[in-house]
Amino acid sequence: MADDDNRCGHDGCSCAVTGDQEYCSDHCRNAADQDITEISCDCGHSGCGIL
Ligand SMILES: [Zn+2]
Ligand SMILES: [Zn+2]
Repeated sequence: MADDDNRCGHDGCSCAVTGDQEYCSDHCRNAADQDITEISCDCGHSGCGIL
């Protein structure tokens, strides 16, 4: 295991990612790239965000 906690790099997202991924989804990649701050993540993964 690396020092990385294997969480998605997008603030507000609590999804786990595998070792070679930085984000759990394109949604998170785009949001982080555009510096979008979300109160709740909208990546669509179960267990993440409000829904
Ligand atoms: Zn998420
Ligand atoms: Zn994510």
